Amino acid sequence: MTTSDIQGKDNKITALYCRLSVDDADKQSDEESNSIKNQKQILQDYCKKNGYHNTRFFVDDGISGTTFDRPGFKEMETLAEEGKIGTIIVKDLSRFGREQTEVGRLTQIVYPSLGITFIAIQEHVNTSTGEGVEIMPFHAIFNEWYAAQTSKKIRQVWKTKSEHNMRVSHHVPFGYVRDKNDKEKWLIDEEAAKVVRHIFELFLSGMGTVQIAGRLKEEKVLTPNAYYASIGRGYTFDLPDDPYKWKDSTVSHILDNRKYTGCMVNNAYSTVSYKVHKTTLIPEEQRQIIPNCQEAIVSEDDWLRVHELRKNRRRPLKSGKTSKFSGLLFCHDCGSKMHFCTSRTYGPNQDFYRCAMYKNGKDYCSAHIIRNIVLERIVLIAIGDLADFVRCYESVFMYMVGERNKTLKAEALKAEKMKLSQAEKRQNELDFLTKRIYEDNAFGKLSDDRYEKLIQSYEAEQKEIDKTIAELQAKLTRTERESLELSYLFNKLRNLSQVTELDPELVNTLIKRIEVHQRENRDGRKVVKVDIYFTAIGMFDIPSEKEINAIMRRMNGDRKTA
Ligand SMILES: [Zn+2]
Repeated sequence: MTTSDIQGKDNKITALYCRLSVDDADKQSDEESNSIKNQKQILQDYCKKNGYHNTRFFVDDGISGTTFDRPGFKEMETLAEEGKIGTIIVKDLSRFGREQTEVGRLTQIVYPSLGITFIAIQEHVNTSTGEGVEIMPFHAIFNEWYAAQTSKKIRQVWKTKSEHNMRVSHHVPFGYVRDKNDKEKWLIDEEAAKVVRHIFELFLSGMGTVQIAGRLKEEKVLTPNAYYASIGRGYTFDLPDDPYKWKDSTVSHILDNRKYTGCMVNNAYSTVSYKVHKTTLIPEEQRQIIPNCQEAIVSEDDWLRVHELRKNRRRPLKSGKTSKFSGLLFCHDCGSKMHFCTSRTYGPNQDFYRCAMYKNGKDYCSAHIIRNIVLERIVLIAIGDLADFVRCYESVFMYMVGERNKTLKAEALKAEKMKLSQAEKRQNELDFLTKRIYEDNAFGKLSDDRYEKLIQSYEAEQKEIDKTIAELQAKLTRTERESLELSYLFNKLRNLSQVTELDPELVNTLIKRIEVHQRENRDGRKVVKVDIYFTAIGMFDIPSEKEINAIMRRMNGDRKTA
């Protein structure tokens, strides 16, 4: 261990644990060497020699090592859980405890996860260096099951922390600055926030991350590091060689950061197992999003659109021309992306799209060619028609959407939320019961046979409940997203004045996907069918006047029966 490691723990307590037992087993050992006084002396000497400060004794006199129900130990455990302890030192492992499963659990799982170093002087055990760890006597029962239970418990601590709206992550993103008076609070750093907004605008206007990085360089916008250096907030006060050299990964990082909408995203990363220190990204549905934690730099709507678009990454074309539909256009028959075919020599009217599989040989798929100018006209008309309909028949539109997607309705949402909270309640009960029977079994109150039967049934139920909860959470996240997208589409269409030209931002915000069918001959004319999937509502046929009347009658009927 380096000196700086030890110094880093200076503000934390170095817990020195002593225990004197009344056990027969202990009595046989050298009583003198194990006296509290002697243990204290050894521990103090060790600390002095190895530079451990802020020491504090925790003593249990006359208590068996087979139980961890000891006042001194418990006091230490509380402080450990509160994160106040940096190191725990004992004279020898048996001072710590004779119940090997528990010793193993604490020293191998609990303490490392809390960032605590465990040292047993006599056995030369030091968990932070790994020294002597292999000789620690572990019992076979110390297995996956117990490890899983413990990790769950620790994750629970983090969860509780985020439930109390405490920030788990302390990194302040570019665009914000920590409040001097309240470390938990972020304020907008207007200078940097302007850059963040600019990046979102550029992306929604159809630019890719590489193009945006190039544009920022052209505009002589300082990179985050250069900016920090310029105001003296960075790790370094030296300006980078090229303070305007933006990387596309920096741009991506900013575009992907949901915190700009003012929310907090907790548990974005989770350590899977404390035995293998591996970090995995938690699926989106399981991340906790707490809105309104800081002032927003980017609107929720814009962020969601960007997020959606980034799933279909766009690449700039070699010819320098960009397609308004890149990332959105697919072949109806084979599902491949459509390639934008353009050249500098021909005029823009000649630009066309073709199924990406076509060039691989005729066997794979047919060409599905559509000219860009034709597609633009089709999309323009579709958007205009839908906007007209929404403006004239707001309530009919909303009713139709509600009929098509029942889960968007408030009652349905409420029922789902209810189901989720019931499942979560049962999950907690099962956690409690599992722990309870484990203890009962350990203390001999429950036979092994009976324990085995109970644990099997609890585990089976737990599995089932976990699955249900995951499904419900995913469903709720989807629904929430859908309703957000719907309100976005609705507002956008309602406020859309006469559209005469398509701009990429409009296309990207209103349309999710476009599918092109193979050309058909109908009555001697060539016809290309195009399916347009709008954001939130998908394909939408605008009803005829007769159909609108029928829907209105249904709406009135609903109101009467409601
Ligand atoms: Zn195809």
